[in-house]
Amino acid sequence: MAEEIVLDMSPMYEGERVRKEEIWVEMGGPKANGFELVVSAEMDEVDDGKVTVKGPDLSEIEEGSTIPFGLIYKVAGELIETDLEAIIERRDHELLSYVHGLMHLNQRDTIWMRASKDLKKAGATSFENIMTGVMKLFKAELPFIEKMEVTVLTTQEAVTEGLEQAHVIYNTRDERAKGLHDDEVDVFYGCTLCQSFAPTSACCVTPDRPSLCGAISWFDGRAAAKVDPEGPQFPIPKEGLIDEITGEYESINKMVEERSGGEYNRMAMYTFFEAPHTSCGCFETIGFYLPEVDGIGIVDRDFTSPTPNGLPFSTMAGQAGGGKQVIGFLGMGILYYFSSKFIQADGGWRRIVWMPEHLKERVKEGIDEDMLNKIATEADATDINALKKFLLNVDHPVVDGVTRPVDDKQITEGWTLEDPSEFEAEVIAYIEESGGDLDVDVIKEKLLMSEGQFMQVVEYLQDEGILE
Ligand code: SF4
Repeated sequence: MAEEIVLDMSPMYEGERVRKEEIWVEMGGPKANGFELVVSAEMDEVDDGKVTVKGPDLSEIEEGSTIPFGLIYKVAGELIETDLEAIIERRDHELLSYVHGLMHLNQRDTIWMRASKDLKKAGATSFENIMTGVMKLFKAELPFIEKMEVTVLTTQEAVTEGLEQAHVIYNTRDERAKGLHDDEVDVFYGCTLCQSFAPTSACCVTPDRPSLCGAISWFDGRAAAKVDPEGPQFPIPKEGLIDEITGEYESINKMVEERSGGEYNRMAMYTFFEAPHTSCGCFETIGFYLPEVDGIGIVDRDFTSPTPNGLPFSTMAGQAGGGKQVIGFLGMGILYYFSSKFIQADGGWRRIVWMPEHLKERVKEGIDEDMLNKIATEADATDINALKKFLLNVDHPVVDGVTRPVDDKQITEGWTLEDPSEFEAEVIAYIEESGGDLDVDVIKEKLLMSEGQFMQVVEYLQDEGILE
């Protein structure tokens, strides 16, 4: 048993960053596997307060190293049920962050932690020094946890094995959540857990609009609100429908007004554009509007290169996070891509133009079948011109205008030129070169124009008397 050390723990350290030069040990993150998992058990199956470390302990790890890392908590209590596992797991971020010198980011299998040299100076030599205090915090914050123990994994072998178990559990939670829909419930759940770092963030979790962090489902919200009525998850009655296409309700608007401190007074569930959901910063993916093609791209945090707009995930997340409603950016959870109401007001999948290959593969069962080959990846386009060419070649709906499936209403006009005169020279050159034998495929390929845009220029030239 490690010597008991009293570490400095306080909510004021939440959001504290450990910079590169201050790293003692880095765990998980972009360079190594990492995950956190909470599983419930019977009372006699949990050895309360026990910390087991499988692999090298803190003092045995070379300073400055990055290691694979896993945390598996076992919890028991009379009120504990499986639905509470995800709720307890989500608090890991907050409570580990209370430890001065410890940084924790993200959730599930994307966690990224850093222990700083200050933590070493404070006397911590083992994971037990940290986790003993953190488990006390868990029990103080969530009194329904009567017993808790944790296993800390620090070898690749142990983490790989633990990740397999974690993925089975994450998938079971997600599959269950996919089976329920908004029209089958009469209450949604709000969550303000992220307000500690994103003060105006006010999440609304519905069966068809799962949480943007991916860690809280409607079922989790329900279980949490039941055992901890004063806690960060709370019911929102499904009342006062304003617009069923955008998913706007009076009750959600009221909630967002109260919980954002008056910063926002509208928040619709199934739209990217008008009064979108707030984005706190721990979203699994971010959607970004590309005005050049009137479409939406999506990127997750595992894709670190720039997207076709020239910006990587991290830059866009910095602009859109903090609990804001930023038109043109939207934080979204992976599970939302499987929803039948996925940005339905904006055309759903017909509006999506680009996403990383691995993300497309991961969510392909959620993508409308007729759109699968029309959404570009980094293999097809890394900049706007290449994206335009791709979208023209595959006849993507954004080119000639998107008709949204939910009500067959045309919601975009398709690509048009603001000033056709700018393209006068190119079009005349092509007409001369082709001898008037126009080929739509060549127009798309060479001029990067849709047929409609080409005809806009032709009509302009006729109006000007340049063409007959
Ligand atoms: S992103 Fe939203 S749902 Fe997820 S923990 Fe934060 S406030 Fe709760």
